[in-house]
Amino acid sequence: RAKSAGGNRFELADPESDARAITRHGLTTALPAALERGEFFIEYQPLVHLGDGSVRGAEALVRWLHPQHGVLSPDRFIPLAEHTGLIVPLGRWVLEQSVRQARAWQERHGGAEALGPLRINVNLSPCQLTHPGLVQDTVDILERTGVEPDALCLEVTESALIGADDDLLKPLRRLAEMGVDIALDDFGTGYSNLANLRRLPVSILKLDRSFTQSMQQYPADPVDLKIVEGIVSLAHSLDLAVTVEGVETGAQAEQLRILGCDTAQGWYYARPGPPERLHDLALADATG
Ligand code: C2E
Ligand code: MG
Ligand code: MG
Ligand code: MG
Repeated sequence: RAKSAGGNRFELADPESDARAITRHGLTTALPAALERGEFFIEYQPLVHLGDGSVRGAEALVRWLHPQHGVLSPDRFIPLAEHTGLIVPLGRWVLEQSVRQARAWQERHGGAEALGPLRINVNLSPCQLTHPGLVQDTVDILERTGVEPDALCLEVTESALIGADDDLLKPLRRLAEMGVDIALDDFGTGYSNLANLRRLPVSILKLDRSFTQSMQQYPADPVDLKIVEGIVSLAHSLDLAVTVEGVETGAQAEQLRILGCDTAQGWYYARPGPPERLHDLALADATG
């Protein structure tokens, strides 16, 4: 099929992008029923303390088991869910499931008292931030499950908070006052003003995977080392903890530990997986 691009010029339509557009449309219209039919599921990826290697919690990562297309990654459908507003009920479902799961781990994980309760990190979309039910939904879920607010961390991307006004920050402030941790996800990819950090009710910086990737070579790029060193020291001076994403090798983990990062996440430790796996990993820690 050829599309006329005006005059006597012709352009071939890219069949791939056509197929993608159809799938996009198909996926978008299938989303609401998928939630009702229970086609979403959550994988959990451990968060590991860089100092002693112990598992301290996990990040919840949603997937869609589509009847025709198989398992779809969140990058395929979260933007569509944001566009249609389905992200609000979907996000609420992820939050409830994940907090319930955290409760189940905590109950079976008696041996590791010294490390504190296993924590759960849940991603929030910008649309959820502006939804008026966020604070109440979160309070209700914590109460129903009996999970302490300080075992929950909500991850918000740096770009969602750039230029955020007080109205947008208010629900996050309320949650932070209750003891819920707020993490700035993918930190370092946006262009947020570092001085702005003081204004945000954030207690954790999640350093973007691109920084971790630059620790791959040995010796690492000296400029990247300086940047990470600077971010970590600024974060610590503001009482923020630093988590690093995308750690794939022991060398990266060691470099980031030396640079003072607190917690790490990545394939080096474990890929995202079913909840039982997290339990086994954490239990292996607790019993040595
Ligand atoms: P994110 O929050 O930055 O999550 C980290 C992503 O990095 C995950 O991709 C994870 O599987 C991947 N990852 C972890 N370790 C490694 C590693 O060592 N190497 C590499 N190359 N990748 C690693 P995933 O699961 O595909 O999720 C993509 C994004 O989708 C997430 O990025 C998050 O922004 C979004 N997302 C996932 N679940 C939810 C959700 O429930 N709600 C919302 N609003 N967004 C979600
Ligand atoms: Mg995240
Ligand atoms: Mg991230
Ligand atoms: Mg990321």
